[in-house]
Amino acid sequence: MLIAHKIELRPTPEQADYLNRACGVRRHCYNQMRQGLRFTGQTKQVTISKRAGRFYASILVDTDEYNPHAPEHASVGVDLGIKDLATLSTGEVIPANQRLKKHLKYLKRRQRNLSRKVKGSRRSAKAKRSVARLHQRISHQRKAVLHELSDKLTRTYQVITLEDLNVSGMIKNHCLARAIADAGFGELRRQIEYKAAWRGVTVIFANRFYPSSKTCHACGKIHDMPLNQRTMACDCGHVMDRDLNAAKNLDRYGLDRLDALRPDVKRTQEPSQTASAAWVLTA
Ligand SMILES: [Zn+2]
Repeated sequence: MLIAHKIELRPTPEQADYLNRACGVRRHCYNQMRQGLRFTGQTKQVTISKRAGRFYASILVDTDEYNPHAPEHASVGVDLGIKDLATLSTGEVIPANQRLKKHLKYLKRRQRNLSRKVKGSRRSAKAKRSVARLHQRISHQRKAVLHELSDKLTRTYQVITLEDLNVSGMIKNHCLARAIADAGFGELRRQIEYKAAWRGVTVIFANRFYPSSKTCHACGKIHDMPLNQRTMACDCGHVMDRDLNAAKNLDRYGLDRLDALRPDVKRTQEPSQTASAAWVLTA
């Protein structure tokens, strides 16, 4: 299996000159690296890249002993959100990144600063570099948070059920756009999918029209739930946080259609008692 990992290089000025010329060039490796590799195996190829004044080496390793931790628990439903990045059906909440918010504020300030400089001047070039560096930092932060979450999910659960969010459709909705782009749902989905493939985890996407937030988890009744209503309170006496209720519904949705696929997976939830056939058929 080929796995790549990326490291940052801190070259001397002379080395930087060499690396500048090597950017984007792939080299096959013949000799050993000084630094230990994250994966043991045959080093195949190194690619040098440069972004915002920093150098990176992406190292491709051919390994057959990649042995991820086997998922321990049965299944999980994940409700993605804006305020909190994710709510799990186990009750765990992963908050959105606060540092990111702060950096976005700095970015605004630095961009304004840049726009005031005379174009083509040395000061303008300097301000431009500072904006680029911050941009990159923000992009790294975004990715780090998502990698953490996707790692955690695929290492812990055998079955993961997520909403199939129409991300590009949501971004068109102007006021939500910023927040959704920040949360990086599309990237998260990509990461979960490829890590699940590594680890033999099953990922299920609930149909986009499946009303996970609107369905009462206890009795299955569908309620009208405007976005500002944060609690599911049903006539049957079931009261639960909106996102947790949605996550639990997603978990059950995944398990309902998994029984046939993976009989080895332990059920953490009762099968849904209600007439769920309507939305099961549409998927
Ligand atoms: Zn109910």
